[in-house]
Amino acid sequence: MNLETILEKTKNVRLVAASKYANYKDIKRLYDSGIVEFGENQVQAFAQKRELLENLPIKWHFIGNLQSNKINLLLRQRPILWQSCNSLKIAKAVNQRLDYKLETLLEINTACEESKNGIESEKAIEEYLQIQEKCLNLKLRGIMCIGSHNDDEKLITKSFELAYKIYEKLRPYGANICSMGMSGDFELALKCGSNMLRLGSILFKKDEPI
Ligand SMILES: *Cc1c(COP(=O)(O)O)cnc(C)c1O
Repeated sequence: MNLETILEKTKNVRLVAASKYANYKDIKRLYDSGIVEFGENQVQAFAQKRELLENLPIKWHFIGNLQSNKINLLLRQRPILWQSCNSLKIAKAVNQRLDYKLETLLEINTACEESKNGIESEKAIEEYLQIQEKCLNLKLRGIMCIGSHNDDEKLITKSFELAYKIYEKLRPYGANICSMGMSGDFELALKCGSNMLRLGSILFKKDEPI
């Protein structure tokens, strides 16, 4: 799929380029083609790339698992959205160190996979409300999930549908972002109601120059 097709298919939602596979030159190239939101999943790499690209008004997201010893470095990068808040504990730790309001998504493990970070579906609503109540520097905006890592479209769809159900229950509490869909499953995610995609490999693959 070339970039034009991807942009056409995703034009009604927010597109975040997951740039972990990309160096700063690739990011610059993609930025020049019109993508302005990028997500990094490692704090150190995020800091390095942001510094190299500080001339560009890129909107950076943080989408990876956050270790508590990296919180200060992360906050110095001023991400506009922390997509991967996956426990009340880390939420509190970040909240304490914030001197501005950070928009945040709760990461939910709707695929029920051991290997994934994220809050269990059954606990998601409760946890969301707790964070909202206790972490006043975090502005919760919705949820993020990584679809089931599987070739079975039915299973992937199931994990997206579950995420969307939780998202709908959180709408009355101000949620308006449902971040789901990656390179391999973004079309399914769109069908299930996603309004934010995180695309990596499909945007940065080297064999098809963009
Ligand atoms: C890498 C990554 C993506 C993008 O994955 P692709 O399959 O390369 O599109 C999306 N979300 C998160 C959290 C990631 O770490």
